[in-house]
Amino acid sequence: MENSKYEVVIGLEIHAQISIQTKMFCSCSSDSFNKEPNLNVCPVCMGFPGQLPVINKEAVRKGLIAALALHCEIPGFSKFDRKNYFYPDLPKGFQISQYDQPVSQMGWLDIDVAGTMKKIHITRLHLEDDAGKLSHIENGTLCDYNRSGIALMEIVSEPELRSSAEAGAYARAMQTILRYVGSSDADMEKGKMRFDASVSLRLKGEAKLNPRAEIKNLNSFRSLESAIDYEIERQAALYEEGKGLEGNITVGWSDELQKTYFLRDKEGADDYRYFPEPDLPPLIVTPDFIAELQKEVPELPTDKQARYRNDWKISEAESLLLTSDLSLAQYFEEIVSKTEDPKKAASFVGTILMSKLKRDVLSIQESKVSADMIAKLINLINKGKLSMNSAKAEVFDVMYEQGTDPEVIIKEKGLEVVSDAGQLEEICKKVLADNPQSVVDYKAGKDKAYFFLVGQVMKATKGQANADMVNEILKKIIA
Ligand SMILES: [Zn+2]
Repeated sequence: MENSKYEVVIGLEIHAQISIQTKMFCSCSSDSFNKEPNLNVCPVCMGFPGQLPVINKEAVRKGLIAALALHCEIPGFSKFDRKNYFYPDLPKGFQISQYDQPVSQMGWLDIDVAGTMKKIHITRLHLEDDAGKLSHIENGTLCDYNRSGIALMEIVSEPELRSSAEAGAYARAMQTILRYVGSSDADMEKGKMRFDASVSLRLKGEAKLNPRAEIKNLNSFRSLESAIDYEIERQAALYEEGKGLEGNITVGWSDELQKTYFLRDKEGADDYRYFPEPDLPPLIVTPDFIAELQKEVPELPTDKQARYRNDWKISEAESLLLTSDLSLAQYFEEIVSKTEDPKKAASFVGTILMSKLKRDVLSIQESKVSADMIAKLINLINKGKLSMNSAKAEVFDVMYEQGTDPEVIIKEKGLEVVSDAGQLEEICKKVLADNPQSVVDYKAGKDKAYFFLVGQVMKATKGQANADMVNEILKKIIA
């Protein structure tokens, strides 16, 4: 749409499952993935009359840590509300959510769109419980309430995203941050992070917002980006016909057909008849509690990236890769602390190790190579005891495949660099004696002859001679 006369306006709602063992308002297990249907249920999350919900403190704590990482304000007072609607996946007949007094609001998230940073404002992050899961089969619909009552964060952005690429960058940055702070696994294959994208168009320069289509329940980055692109093209064609959207609508997305399809006119707040949840007290958050939580927020990915680039001169691409996961960043930082050589650490981790792990579909936690092993390897290179070539070509693979300590590999393979001055002098003397013509040529100013002599020494030591020492010794003897 870059050359188009339209500006794209996108806002995202993200639902992320909070990483806790139990549900939002009862003590049922929250582990619903691939479980026998209706195994993890109780009268509270099944909505039986007379049952009383209890707020899960750990859910509040993890939700607030995410809110702090997203720079949200946390008002001391918030409350839960009933969002009423009737649907078979919702046995209570209402969802417990937060309407006008959410637990946090007015934050922001920095995103990197093809190398340019952009700040996207966050309207609110609130807590709520999830609905059950319906499976439509040939003769009817199956209801599974294992998911019913699971704790969610709903994170709503301002409509500040301007393309599918920006929406994708925002969603990825959100996943990284939620994982960094441990508030959510944000694992989309298990339905632990889902997106609703509101898309509308307006003429460039216009300030008003036109009616929008909300695309519900997108569950991968690819679906998110494809659905937005499709919806942009569809709405642009409508405006070209002089129509546009007549009102806000809700649509679905078919991955199979690569198309959005109409679901219903968009509900407004009035449709849900929100009212305060009478069975729950207001949620009071003290400044002391917030201060305590603030200490648990780790350095954020964008801050780490800036530090890697500025202090350690790591490239932009490597910084992005190394901070994409907190365990990976910690692994990398451990190597740097033991070697004080961030550049070599970035090269061994970012380039060599990560490409092997990616090939084998392994995570950094599953790697047989510990941070300590890479640190040892780098220190051996920096002390002149191992050549970079041997490290890359002969040592690293064995470390990776077998998890063997580099010092053991070097001894077994005889790769240790020869730095014994006496031994090197003997070899140099022999090479010079065997090649008198080259010595004459070198003295006559032929550099090539000198490089030949160095080559002969290297050959005699199977490439393991300390190159600086060889230079020094050869020149000393010839002189
Ligand atoms: Zn329950």
